[in-house]
Amino acid sequence: MKICVMPGDGIGPEIVEQGLNVLNVIGEKFGHTFETEEVLIGGAAIDAKGVPLPDETVEACKAADAVLLGAVGGPKWDTIDPSIRPERGLLGIRKALGLFANLRPASLFPQLKDACFLRPDIVEKGIDVMVVRELTGGIYFGEPKGEGEKDGQKYGFNTMVYYEEEIRRIAKIAFETARKRKKRVCSVDKANVLDVSRVWRAIVIEVSKEYPDVELTHLYVDNAAMQLVRDPSQFDVIVTGNLFGDILSDEASVITGSIGMLPSASVGAANPGIFEPIHGSAPDIAGEDKANPLATILSIAMMLRYAFNLDKEAECIEAAVEKTLSSGLRTGDIMDEGGTLVGCKAMGEAVIKNL
Ligand code: NAD
Repeated sequence: MKICVMPGDGIGPEIVEQGLNVLNVIGEKFGHTFETEEVLIGGAAIDAKGVPLPDETVEACKAADAVLLGAVGGPKWDTIDPSIRPERGLLGIRKALGLFANLRPASLFPQLKDACFLRPDIVEKGIDVMVVRELTGGIYFGEPKGEGEKDGQKYGFNTMVYYEEEIRRIAKIAFETARKRKKRVCSVDKANVLDVSRVWRAIVIEVSKEYPDVELTHLYVDNAAMQLVRDPSQFDVIVTGNLFGDILSDEASVITGSIGMLPSASVGAANPGIFEPIHGSAPDIAGEDKANPLATILSIAMMLRYAFNLDKEAECIEAAVEKTLSSGLRTGDIMDEGGTLVGCKAMGEAVIKNL
């Protein structure tokens, strides 16, 4: 299995190093060979090559079975020409690989329940939601769009459009994902108001017929936003369009209270997908051995499960992370009363010991 590795900027290289250490041990333990190749992206690529996404990076990613990313960006590149900003590298590689689905799990390890923003009686029921967001269509890309002036008034407009094929492929990803979890999909739309949502709902229902073992429900987006804070335990997989998914995935992850714990995946119709922590490059703590490597380590678990169908190996990593948290080890971002403060390296080493 070939993995293209893009450490990126800030804390990227530190957290990716810990992630790869875990991957190597999993390889030894389960008898797999993971071939890795490191390439440049973001600010590191701008410094070395003058662009945030060199052609060699795109080629190497396309030739791989999966891509691991740390994070990109930082103050050093904040004032450069916007057309070559580090974030452009990220958008560019997602586009080049045809990644139309963003998988954002928001789960709460019971050991970190004090970090959660919700009431203890709600937290008690557990949080383990996977938001599957459509990434390349909808109102962010729909045409026509623009700004104008009419009768002395400025106006702006965008178009929310979804084609059958776009809905079908994201729905399939959601149902397949649910099959690896609790087999429940909630499709979120605004079908009481939007025509585009009525088409969305009809196609999702059609696709669901191929997945009789998965339960399908529907919620309007305003209700879904409420239900996420009222009782997140009711959700398994949420599938939704680009705009609603952007908002709901952030809402779902922030309620868990710990940005350094959350992995993500961007996938397309076939490998390679990109697996990465949801947080940024944290320039304020870069190079200080303070970063939490667990989001990256859990991104490796997602890679094993979704890119390589290695469920047992993924579970092994998740169990090791849980055991490490149970032993009381904490990086600064998740530090709580009674916890033992450790750095990025020590946290990675502890996970390996617990594998
Ligand atoms: P950030 O996620 O980098 O940091 C926000 C806060 O969370 C900071 O205080 C940081 O120290 C902390 N934090 C983040 N990850 C952590 C970890 N693993 N362990 C411990 N603490 C952690 O967001 P930001 O400060 O808004 O952005 C910094 C840079 O990252 C910017 O250049 C931004 O554009 C970029 N960014 C990149 C990505 C990405 O690569 N996917 C995502 C978001 C932001």
